[in-house]
Amino acid sequence: MSRYDILKDIAGKSDVILDLLGIDQRARYTHVHCPLPNHDDRHPSFRVDKETERFYCTCTPRGGSMLDLVIGMQHANNFSAAAKWLRRRLFSNNGVSRQIIVSSNFVTRSMSKQHVADRNEILRVLSHCVDVPLFHPYIVKKGILPLCAKYEPILKNLVLPIHDNQYQLQGIEYIDRQDNKFCVDGTIKTGNGLMIGNPDESPVLGVAEGWSTAVSIHLALGGLPILVTFGAANLDAAQNFAKPGQDVWFFADNDKIGVDSAKRAACKFGEAGFVLTSSLDDFNEDFSALLGDTHFCSIREALHKVRLDK
Ligand SMILES: [Zn+2]
Repeated sequence: MSRYDILKDIAGKSDVILDLLGIDQRARYTHVHCPLPNHDDRHPSFRVDKETERFYCTCTPRGGSMLDLVIGMQHANNFSAAAKWLRRRLFSNNGVSRQIIVSSNFVTRSMSKQHVADRNEILRVLSHCVDVPLFHPYIVKKGILPLCAKYEPILKNLVLPIHDNQYQLQGIEYIDRQDNKFCVDGTIKTGNGLMIGNPDESPVLGVAEGWSTAVSIHLALGGLPILVTFGAANLDAAQNFAKPGQDVWFFADNDKIGVDSAKRAACKFGEAGFVLTSSLDDFNEDFSALLGDTHFCSIREALHKVRLDK
């Protein structure tokens, strides 16, 4: 592996690399607090040049490449170890969901003051989100994995990013402690969604209204990519995400609105559109029913209760 190869391979991926390193992606547009372990800056002093993809900080005035940044963040101690670290993460994720990016026009001057404030608030929330805790009550109740979800530790909300078909962030949906679901102000939901899994090479794109049903289908069907549309009224978002030649399977919630909306949305794909219905209320219930009449059912209920009490 030559030096040239890795530089070519990582070119244009600074947004993804920053995300892999847990660094605020806004560094590509503005100064953020320095993530390097030995620099505790009082004022944001770290940035990444979007063109050259080099980082600069008062602690590193001459700057460095993305590989230097991997080393600076102590994930590797030399060039080839840093290249290996990046390769492993950038190119071995066929089935894994694509990275969502924050584009430079997520907040622009042409937006209203309120919209700017709302969107900055969304970025603020995302900047202090952490991984969803194990045994989170909602996750336990649904019996799923927290795929593509984040956790806001102050409000204790699940946070689901919403993006467009270029994987650019368009807002977030919260699931609060009472299981209420709502989009945060500043979010543009119509035509957008959240992709669970990677649809790039898939002959079939799945579509579901809700996140927990989408994850259930994804898990039950070997990682089938599923677009979450955050409501039956937004199923047409699938038109923005489906690729030519791809069949589109709408996994409808088993109620009148769910089935009717799915039929309407599937029609627009002609022969490539299909509607599938669950045998119980929705596909998450079908997924849970896979456990059948085993002790896992009562154990899961007990675990859910313990988690709610803690
Ligand atoms: Zn610094």
